[in-house]
Amino acid sequence: MIEFRKEGIYCPQADVYIDPWYPVKQAIITHGHSDHARWGHHNYLCHMLSKEILKLRLGKDITIQTLEYNETITINGVKISMHPAGHIIGSAQVRLEYKGEVWVVSGDYKVFDDGVSMPFEPIKCNSFITESTFGLPIYNFEPFESIYADMNTWCQNNANEGFNSVIIGYSLGKAQNILQHLNPEIGKVLLHGAVANINDALRISGLDFQGERIIAETSKNKITNSIIVAPMSAIGSPWLRKFKPYRIAVCSGWMALRGARRRYGVDKGFVLSDHCDFKQLNYAVKETGAENIYVTHGYQAIYAKWVREMYGLNAFEVKTLFDSNPLDDIDPVTEEA
Ligand SMILES: [Zn+2]
Ligand SMILES: [Zn+2]
Repeated sequence: MIEFRKEGIYCPQADVYIDPWYPVKQAIITHGHSDHARWGHHNYLCHMLSKEILKLRLGKDITIQTLEYNETITINGVKISMHPAGHIIGSAQVRLEYKGEVWVVSGDYKVFDDGVSMPFEPIKCNSFITESTFGLPIYNFEPFESIYADMNTWCQNNANEGFNSVIIGYSLGKAQNILQHLNPEIGKVLLHGAVANINDALRISGLDFQGERIIAETSKNKITNSIIVAPMSAIGSPWLRKFKPYRIAVCSGWMALRGARRRYGVDKGFVLSDHCDFKQLNYAVKETGAENIYVTHGYQAIYAKWVREMYGLNAFEVKTLFDSNPLDDIDPVTEEA
């Protein structure tokens, strides 16, 4: 029912690809990150909250059809529906059913509730396709509440000591989570253009996040007592100078690795990820009840072996074009804005 082709994950019966890497006729897009939402497809099908993000990143003139969560369409006998993946706003697992057989393509997902995106729902299926970005036991993330409490304390301490706070996270997903949880009483919240662009797009879909876009005017007066939210591309850039004196933090699952903070040359690391850690992956795999687990994107071989040995399931390693880390969930065009 599902094939892994060079273009991406393919359902021949419905003639649709999921998150294809090369231009195809019909593409189902799990979410707006650039390793999933690629340019050049004839038709896009995505969750309604991904629509404006896709238009921002791929062009206003693309042809997009949207679904709500749990809404089903049928293409040539294949029932296709989207279900919350909890990864970023609008992110969806794709469920495909044909003649009683069910596949779920999870895209990127996480089980922890980030308070912004619709929380992950496990979907019963025969075959489950999962990523494995953090598919090792060393990745054991804290729930978000305590991390955001730490972040607000860090920002408050910086403010008390006369420093601005610069918080680095992807412009789509992480930035909105941060904005949702930042205490606005600590100081003025300022946004890098890439973050402000995403927020503007989301506003069209009825979602509103705090923060003021940084424009040329913004730095006319000295910037003090502020929290600046910016993407990875801002690290080490001259753009940061106008916020001096500042302290800078990176938000990423990779901050769980020893030495990661120093490698980025930043003052603070928050282990904040929109992907599953090891225990979340295991939870999802078990909850789907699937007998076949296809492991992509990350520690495929190791995690597939774990699933076979620990749970006695059929687990297969799938090679993907973007075998890299979630730091690549960056759109080079919009991130530079
Ligand atoms: Zn993603
Ligand atoms: Zn991804």
